[in-house]
Amino acid sequence: IGIRDSVNSKFEAIKKVMTQSGFTSKLLHADRRSGVQHGSIHKPIHTAVTYAYDDSRELAAVFQGKQSGYTYGRQVNPTVDALQNKITMMEDGVATAAFSTGMAAICTTFFALLRAGDHVISSFFLFGNTNSVFKTFESHGIEITFVDATNVANVAAAIKENTKLVFVETIANPRTQVADLINIGDLCEAQNLLYCVDNTMTTPYLFQAKRAKASLVFNSLTKYIGGHANALGGAVTETGLYDWSKFENLYSNYKKGDVSSWGITQIKKKGLRDFGATLGPEAAHHISIGSDTLALRMERACENARTLTEYLSSHDSVKKVYYPGLSGHPQHQLSTELFKHCGALFSIELNDEIDCFDFLNRLNLVISASNLGDTRSLGIPVAHTIYHEMGPERRATMGIDDSLVRFAIGIEETEDLLADFEAALSL
Ligand SMILES: *Cc1c(COP(=O)(O)O)cnc(C)c1O
Repeated sequence: IGIRDSVNSKFEAIKKVMTQSGFTSKLLHADRRSGVQHGSIHKPIHTAVTYAYDDSRELAAVFQGKQSGYTYGRQVNPTVDALQNKITMMEDGVATAAFSTGMAAICTTFFALLRAGDHVISSFFLFGNTNSVFKTFESHGIEITFVDATNVANVAAAIKENTKLVFVETIANPRTQVADLINIGDLCEAQNLLYCVDNTMTTPYLFQAKRAKASLVFNSLTKYIGGHANALGGAVTETGLYDWSKFENLYSNYKKGDVSSWGITQIKKKGLRDFGATLGPEAAHHISIGSDTLALRMERACENARTLTEYLSSHDSVKKVYYPGLSGHPQHQLSTELFKHCGALFSIELNDEIDCFDFLNRLNLVISASNLGDTRSLGIPVAHTIYHEMGPERRATMGIDDSLVRFAIGIEETEDLLADFEAALSL
């Protein structure tokens, strides 16, 4: 027929290489595993919303889950599937559901798995919009207790009879508190709680949350995984560790087949399908291409952050530097044990005589902008922007000073960034 068969003739050989290769090699060759038409080295962008079947009985079989296939674009898409496979591989999980944004991944999963009367334990130190949506969940009858999750004892003390899950971030933004990840994992396992970890700040390159026994791992694909601030996306990955037969809120029609897939099935049906926060195929393509260089970008950005924080912490004009890579950080030891590097995000408080807006305006390479995980370095005055709506009291409990400036460092040359900070601080 002239078109290469959809099953790659080197499939078995590629599979073998894949299991033995490193992080980046695996990612780069992931799409070829499933055989791409014409030998295309990228999974194509499939824009079709629906899929045709010559035999209507086949269509019915796909709907009934008796045969695999594509039905309707809100639920499934080949381009998005290929990205989901890459994320599953990166997190060493068993399945991934992708969403239109990181927030959609978090909200939809909560809506799909929780019911009024359930209790959730989370951290004081949370991404602002996650904190905001958790407040919304409270008004829908789901009780949330926020604790200082840097110490497992606080999580243990908050457990109640109706506690269903624990949700923490690896490194919190902007103050870089690191959750007591391993101990919370052990606690959740012992107490049979669903352990949800938002891995956005560390990415699966720096840390696989499965190592801390996480059941569900969240990633905002918008950030480091996509990496170029040109596409929004989010994902939740099932690690296969949780015994879903013990989770009370599953509907009986999803309790079929392998127990490890029950939860993600309900998330895909009751969450993704019904809420409809679907990742588009173009965005999935951008994110997939971006993810190819995740390891390279993280190496460079983390090294830049490490060098800059060392420089800033000895500068007279800088009052405080928050970065887990610094030996004075409360979770420095834990961070160096858990993470390949300590991330590319840090925050600083400047001496009182320096206005944080003026300082940001004096930086030329660092862009004043929200977002993190871009190739470009970004800075933002936290209390006045992303944490403004939260109000002063909640900011105080989160340790967010009015002068706090957050930097999400990119992959510029280290000397250039150092020179930019140096110039902005020398008055
Ligand atoms: C950005 C972010 C999110 C939300 O992701 P979006 O793609 O912007 O919706 C969730 N968690 C963390 C830690 C984030 O940094």
